[in-house]
Amino acid sequence: MQRVRVGTGFHLSLAIGALLIAAAIAALGFVQWQAAEAVERNKTLDNVVTEGLQLVQLTNEVLLYKQERAVTQWRGQFDHVTAAVGMALGPADGSDVQLRKIDTRLTDMRLLFERLASPDADHGDSRAAQDVAGILSSQLFQKTVLLQTSLRSLKTFSDDQIKGSYDAAKERTLLTFGLLAALMALFGIVVSVLFRNVVLRPLQGLELAIRRVNAGDAKQRADLCADDEIGMVSRAFNGLLDQQEEHRRQLQYLAYHDVLTGLPNQLLVKDRLVQAIAFAGRSGNRVALLFLDLDNFKTINDSLGHPVGDALLRAVSERLVGCIRDTDTVARQGGDEFLVILSDVQSSDDIAALAEKLLERLTVPFQIEGHDLSTSASIGIAIHPDDSRDFDTLLKKADTALYEAKAAGRNAYRFFTERMNVEASEYLQVRSGLRRAIENREFELHYQPQIDLATGALVGVEALIRWQHPQQGWIPPARFIPVAEDSGLIVAIGEWVLREACRQLAEWRSSGLPELTVAVNLSGVQFKRGMVERSVMAALQEFDLPARLLELELTESILIKDTESVLATVRRLKDIGVRLSIDDFGTGYSSLSYLKRFNVDKLKIDQSFVRDFTSDPDDAAIVRAIIQMARSLNLRTIAEGVETAHVRDQLAAFNCDEAQGYYFARPMPAADFERFVAARASSS
Ligand code: C2E
Ligand code: CA
Ligand code: CA
Repeated sequence: MQRVRVGTGFHLSLAIGALLIAAAIAALGFVQWQAAEAVERNKTLDNVVTEGLQLVQLTNEVLLYKQERAVTQWRGQFDHVTAAVGMALGPADGSDVQLRKIDTRLTDMRLLFERLASPDADHGDSRAAQDVAGILSSQLFQKTVLLQTSLRSLKTFSDDQIKGSYDAAKERTLLTFGLLAALMALFGIVVSVLFRNVVLRPLQGLELAIRRVNAGDAKQRADLCADDEIGMVSRAFNGLLDQQEEHRRQLQYLAYHDVLTGLPNQLLVKDRLVQAIAFAGRSGNRVALLFLDLDNFKTINDSLGHPVGDALLRAVSERLVGCIRDTDTVARQGGDEFLVILSDVQSSDDIAALAEKLLERLTVPFQIEGHDLSTSASIGIAIHPDDSRDFDTLLKKADTALYEAKAAGRNAYRFFTERMNVEASEYLQVRSGLRRAIENREFELHYQPQIDLATGALVGVEALIRWQHPQQGWIPPARFIPVAEDSGLIVAIGEWVLREACRQLAEWRSSGLPELTVAVNLSGVQFKRGMVERSVMAALQEFDLPARLLELELTESILIKDTESVLATVRRLKDIGVRLSIDDFGTGYSSLSYLKRFNVDKLKIDQSFVRDFTSDPDDAAIVRAIIQMARSLNLRTIAEGVETAHVRDQLAAFNCDEAQGYYFARPMPAADFERFVAARASSS
């Protein structure tokens, strides 16, 4: 709606008001001027009357006393009167008739007066002359009376005129004032109505809108946006609100979405799952929560940089979204973890089929910034209502199942089972306990003797860690070492083992025990994250031990992975003079090439072949082959898990160099070991 602008309206009102006042002043001025005119006119007429009456007076004097002086005076007065009449003549206002009568009478009087006053009248027949004079006098007298009457009526006219004029002026003034007041009132009404409609109402609307917005109604807008200044303010206000609304929506979006991938985040996914559960509750179907984790993302991120890692995450999220139905949800849980909600599924087979599809799609290499990136994922699955009915528990169980999938060698999916839960809670207990174990001195090393099969001499010990958990008692290394490796705590634990083993060996040396080697087990994680070389050197230096007395037990898998960096580390360790043995030999890759490259000293034949190889011809063949191969490569051999004399004899017959096992002794605390050594010495 086109409206008067407030500014224009204001100026227009001012102008109209001023105009009204000016008109009123002009009207009053006109009235005043008219009144002044009337007074002026009245004065002229009065002058005629005054001068005329004096002439009447003089005429009477002349007629009564016939004085010479009066005659001259009369003539002078006559001129005054005719001049006054001449001046008064003109305006046709009703005085005209009177004035013309007066003029005629004056002309008559002049004629009579001059005849009366002429010398001829004195020098004629005196009688006749006297008669004539008498007639003239009486005629003059009559004329004088008539003149007087005319003057009187002129006077009356003039008086009436001035009175009428005053009355008219009064009336006009009143009328002007009345009209002006009415106009002003009308003007006031019009202005106030306009003001109400154009200014007040929109302002009130704006104020109301502001109050509603303040009260929290973000959708409220100012209406009545006319094309005027207030309309402009309202539009600016609405614009501000729109902007705020947009910001609010952006914030809302950011609060519920992952910035990198644009996928729903943890908050939104929870919401979606709750919805899906509510929906499934009605249809009686199930909802699956898939916890997906990329297997090698960290390596890609660390080696190729975060931009590539980010691009990979985006590409992965796109592929995941491409695999699911519209009714399902893919969300980013954080890092390289994703959640998938499958709503309304009927059987586990459907879920398994989708999990397989996801894993398969992810193994197709990604082309990112010129890199051909292969990746795989592991998936843990929890199902509503089978595993739980609430989000947090489902998430925890899916996470537990994911851990299992990872443990199963990655690129796999696992459904949650209750057994996992028991294991997972144990796992968590162990992990939290491990953090305090070093400070609390809960670890201890036990030592298992190693015997030279040819001479029967005690040549070394293997240090094996033991953990006395304050609540759970002894926890076997098989249960906590994998957890320590998984959490990285193995680095600190391994350093402690190295130092403690060296300290113990130095103590035994100084107390006069025969010279022994100490074998320490190393984890692959120590190679990857720790500084094995530095801790070995530090331990040897601290206890002043010759390097040849320290033997490091590595598994084949350590040497297979990350070959270059491991090779460099192992070479430097060998340069120091430390011995290397391959633990659990035969269970891994058993590739001969690395044995040469790493310059290994000893093979430790895994106990699974040794324990009862006397009854299993296959195992016996393997053990013999290993020993023969080691000899040909100039490596020493040690058999672990020797439990019987029979096995010992057989190994000796195969030319195995050393043996270790319950047959000789179980792993034992240092003090027991000292007694063990003393007992052997006294018996021999
Ligand atoms: P491993 O290195 O193969 O250690 C030998 C295991 O066999 C030890 O189990 C030992 O007690 C057991 N054993 C020795 N003789 C016999 C026998 O005659 N019969 C049978 N049945 N078993 C025998 P333990 O001490 O429970 O250690 C298990 C594993 O834990 C070790 O296997 C090793 O891989 C790991 N481990 C132990 N201590 C450490 C350590 O300080 N650091 C690291 N990284 N791993 C360790
Ligand atoms: Ca070992
Ligand atoms: Ca072993």
